[in-house]
Amino acid sequence: MVLEAKKLFIGGQWVAGKRHYELFSPYNGENLGLIPLADRADVEAALASAHAAAKTMRRLTALERSQILERVSRLFEQKSEECALILAAENAKPLKAARAEIARTIETYKFASEEAKRIHGETVPLDAAKGGRGKFGFTVREPLGVIAAITPFNFPFNLTAHKLGPAFAAGNAVVLKPASQTPLSAFMTAGIFEQAGLPAGALNVVTGRGGDVGDLLVKDSRVKMVTFTGSYEVGLGIREKAGLKRVTLELGSNSAVIVDSAENIQAVAARCVEGSFNFAGQVCISIQRIFVKRELFELFLEAFVENAKRLVVGDPRLEQTDVSALIHIREAERIERWVAEAGQAGARIVLGGTREGAVFQPTVIAEGRSDLALSCSEAFGPVVVINPYEDWEDALAQVNASQYGLQAGVYTTSVQRAFEAAERLEVGGVIINDIPSFRVDHMPYGGVKNSGIGKEGVKYSTEEMTELKFVAFHL
Ligand code: NAP
Repeated sequence: MVLEAKKLFIGGQWVAGKRHYELFSPYNGENLGLIPLADRADVEAALASAHAAAKTMRRLTALERSQILERVSRLFEQKSEECALILAAENAKPLKAARAEIARTIETYKFASEEAKRIHGETVPLDAAKGGRGKFGFTVREPLGVIAAITPFNFPFNLTAHKLGPAFAAGNAVVLKPASQTPLSAFMTAGIFEQAGLPAGALNVVTGRGGDVGDLLVKDSRVKMVTFTGSYEVGLGIREKAGLKRVTLELGSNSAVIVDSAENIQAVAARCVEGSFNFAGQVCISIQRIFVKRELFELFLEAFVENAKRLVVGDPRLEQTDVSALIHIREAERIERWVAEAGQAGARIVLGGTREGAVFQPTVIAEGRSDLALSCSEAFGPVVVINPYEDWEDALAQVNASQYGLQAGVYTTSVQRAFEAAERLEVGGVIINDIPSFRVDHMPYGGVKNSGIGKEGVKYSTEEMTELKFVAFHL
């Protein structure tokens, strides 16, 4: 069988690669096509195109930028089933979750089209200073120019939308480097922008190995900002190489939830199951640690396990599937080792714990020590550790005993405790009476500690993708 060779998108043209790699489905190993390995010359062409197009982009009016993004949102709506099938193929994302991602992608571009019309500066009352008489000052927000966007495999449409939407809303040009496992969604996105009338060269897609392509982008002086979503290790490397460029890093976590109240405990357990096993736990705000008040512990655990048992594990292309393969068999093998380590350390494996190829069964660990890899590192798999806590202080301390700090959830009926949690949890977002995995696309989003720097959420990243310029008039 002759496999179709995909093309790079550079300067508004689809350009053949010189070398390729084969892309396989994580679920069944099906060959999904040949993907170009961009070389130095391809990356150079992409950067030169973006650099030239940045001048065109900054001349577009707010209305023109908004209209392009509005058309992109509509095109995603028209092509939503096609996009969901791409996710099921390249990402093993079950159709239900894939459709939910596309619905969010449509909304993210819609938010970006609205945000394009709201970028503005403010006046500064210079005469408040002694030397300010007769002076008039104001700020404007200008586009940065060329932005390098490096994206992970887990939400390849929507997390790309979180970079492209704000970047174009603010009038920038972009070179996008998608994850090697999810290039098809990036090509689809580029085709949609092409159809929506984005000026040629404003979006360039270069596929290839992260280390090679990523390095060329991160070190190039034409790039004014690197917006990265991915692992802590890669993010740290980017920060070290980026010099004075602006850098946004949206990194990993081992998110926790506290269950401090018996209120609706069955529904809370069911919701926590969603937050733990959605996309097999390969979500940056997936629930990895649950702390339950001692007297509620057994009740919660039982309800949680009952719900987790109902999850349908299997083929991502089937309507009923909840959990499918991990992105790579080596990730499933790693989870298997971590679960074995927990078992050897005396934790109870209450559900799951087994692997078939890249598919790992939804797994519930009870009473796992805090020094286990499953507790203190990012699992990024379908495993959750549920522990009892003795008192409220202890619960807060355990959530904070993490190198990460993306979001945390707290179920409580006490307003006092809700406010205490909001104040004392060391995370970027505290979600009261819901799971830490709650996210809608216009809220500010981003972590502290090893979970990253900078905020996403359309308004917030649009701001980060502009330069604040100050102008003073001597009257
Ligand atoms: P990853 O391995 O860090 O890869 C992310 C991106 O970086 C990919 O495009 C990758 O390309 C590229 N890359 C790899 N090495 C690079 C280098 N040296 N220089 C520049 N780029 C490089 O992450 P992943 O496995 O795709 O995604 C999972 C991680 O993302 C988890 O830690 C998860 O928590 C995090 N995440 C965070 C958020 C958030 O918003 N906070 C959201 C989603 C995911 P290749 O694929 O070619 O290696």
